[in-house]
Amino acid sequence: MAQDFQLAVREAVHDEAALKAALAEADIAPMLMVLVQLTGDLDILEEVAPYIHGAWSFLQSVPEPLKQKVRDRLVATLQDYATSKQIAPPQPPADVLQRMMSAGVGQPVPDEYIPLLLEEMRFGEEDTRAVRWHNDPAKLPPWDFKVIIIGAGFGGLCAAIRLKQLGIRFEVFEKNASVGGTWLENEYPGCAVDTPNHFYSYSFHVNNRWTQHFSRRDEILAYIEDVTRTYDLRPHIRFGAEATSAIFDEKTDRWQLTWRDAEGREESAACNAVISAVGQLNRASIPKITGLDNFSGPLFHTARWDRTVDLKGKRVAMIGTGASAMQAGPSIASDVAHLRIFQRTPHWAMNNPNYHRAVSNSNRWALEHIPYFSNWLRFQLFWASSDGFHASLHVDPSWTSSAVSLNEANHKMRELIVDYVRGELGGDEELLAKVIPSYPPYGKRMLRDNYWYRMLKRENVAPETDPISHVTAESIVMKDGTVHPADVIILATGFQASRMLWPLDIRGRDGHTIRDDWGDDDPRGYLGVTVPHYPNLFLIYGPNTNLAHGGSIIFHTECQVRYIVQALREMIERGYTTMEVRQDVHDQYNHRLDEKAQSMVWAHPGVTSWYKNDRNRITVTSPWRLLDYWGMMRHFVPEDFLVAKPGQKPEMPGQRADAVISADRLPVS
Ligand code: NAP
Repeated sequence: MAQDFQLAVREAVHDEAALKAALAEADIAPMLMVLVQLTGDLDILEEVAPYIHGAWSFLQSVPEPLKQKVRDRLVATLQDYATSKQIAPPQPPADVLQRMMSAGVGQPVPDEYIPLLLEEMRFGEEDTRAVRWHNDPAKLPPWDFKVIIIGAGFGGLCAAIRLKQLGIRFEVFEKNASVGGTWLENEYPGCAVDTPNHFYSYSFHVNNRWTQHFSRRDEILAYIEDVTRTYDLRPHIRFGAEATSAIFDEKTDRWQLTWRDAEGREESAACNAVISAVGQLNRASIPKITGLDNFSGPLFHTARWDRTVDLKGKRVAMIGTGASAMQAGPSIASDVAHLRIFQRTPHWAMNNPNYHRAVSNSNRWALEHIPYFSNWLRFQLFWASSDGFHASLHVDPSWTSSAVSLNEANHKMRELIVDYVRGELGGDEELLAKVIPSYPPYGKRMLRDNYWYRMLKRENVAPETDPISHVTAESIVMKDGTVHPADVIILATGFQASRMLWPLDIRGRDGHTIRDDWGDDDPRGYLGVTVPHYPNLFLIYGPNTNLAHGGSIIFHTECQVRYIVQALREMIERGYTTMEVRQDVHDQYNHRLDEKAQSMVWAHPGVTSWYKNDRNRITVTSPWRLLDYWGMMRHFVPEDFLVAKPGQKPEMPGQRADAVISADRLPVS
């Protein structure tokens, strides 16, 4: 580390002009944090702190002379480190870090977040979420353990990397011809991430070269391919192999996985454990609209974009106004002759000035060359887009405007967004009334405005808010009889998220099947990763693990993978053949989870969304703060499981006989 640090410092000061140019434009908060970390000078922190008003870099209003002072001091400090060949300063103590973090985001960062943030920021070389053997695996009794991972998207690849690091044998089955999962499948125009990229990426594979703050699909796919190359994962992946069933054999305590290849041939393979990383958003939801099949022109779903169809000069009808429509609509509006958008219910969309911005060359230079700059930017982005809104998404029982908002903070947010949209629509109150949701902000997924409202003002764009009656060969007909001719229909109608794991046929112990246990819309799991009666089966992005208040799904994925790999390590080190979560532990967790979710915005009676089933149970989304989930997932707890050694019946490990998960492991917030 000392050598790497010296190398980094020397590189940073090697070209003083480049360093100064980078600092002239670099974000002030990470720059200040680097200076404080390198000098230990808290006076400069206190001097600048009053001007930092939030975690987003564009919110800062630090006076130029003060910024210049920080830049000059940082240049001098780096030069000093380089000439004196000093080693890296020790990580600041927790109380100093907390002061730095709080100053950097302009609000108190509570103690409880510090361990999580340090893990996410990774100051040293240590891979903070890697799982290590307790004992030398070579000294264990002979073990032969094979894991099958289903899916080679962000989740499956993360699991593959961790298993490879431990030397546990695994094979990945991927239905597509390449890696990337959702980022491979979605190639509609404008497809991009709406979580900041410097945080929407693995903590152990930081990319300092993102060209956008919110990158486009191709760049994210390139990142995933780079990860696959770096960790040499391709030899472990069977492409064009769609898993169709996974059946647990109680005689052998092994899973039998059947898959279909591209030619439709079926084969099967046995393994000790299965990790499903199939995602929640890859089975298109095709609306049941009468006559849809009769449409004579091109008709496709956003996730199956038909690139052979030239939209230029066409009359396009787009059904749906969710996250995919938000990106596709404005991206095609200027090409098509006419775009008619069929909105069933409006979504909330927020503005983020960075959404369309490129990362400046100087910021990229700073990220690549200035020690700790990238770590501190990751911290800022984590904070800006994580638990900040969580408290405001709880119902205040005394709130009188409960139809449209939940509480005072949520109402303020409503007003802010309405003002913003009004501005975007140029004060068109009639249109405003159509696009502002009647339910509280965050009820459905909060979108990022991709110039959607400006698009609605275009001459060639028409929003329709009346209900659709049916589709004919050439048109969409409304309930009031109005006929809208169309050349192409685009279905931006989302995915069958609640029908989790479908169409995989998963059969566990004692005749249990996932479809019988969950039905089509009621998935449940313990921590979202394990299900009673399905030994040695683990889920990534399973029930109630979607993030809807903030955060990056990759953070959640890393938490889940660490937990799952800890479970597998436990099995191998202790010689268990099976491990399955206890029913009582699972039920208690789900009881708490349901209680929590029902008190939050997603269960609001005015909201319909893919987050919940028609009994108003939230099935997809996590109600926990990131901090709470991280806390629950940090250490695998064997007592939550029944385990068995060869030839034995499943039982609790150790002596604990009570059937309670200790209350302190379930969050109370
Ligand atoms: P979605 O959010 O579920 O939106 C589907 C849209 O189709 C909604 O407006 C829905 O209306 C409408 N719809 C569905 N059935 C309909 C019907 N029968 N008639 C009329 N309208 C109908 O789907 P999505 O936009 O594909 O997004 C799904 C999720 O994917 C997102 O929430 C997000 O998690 C992820 N995603 C992320 C990004 C990103 O990172 N930027 C981009 C795309 C997708 P109602 O609202 O009335 O149901």
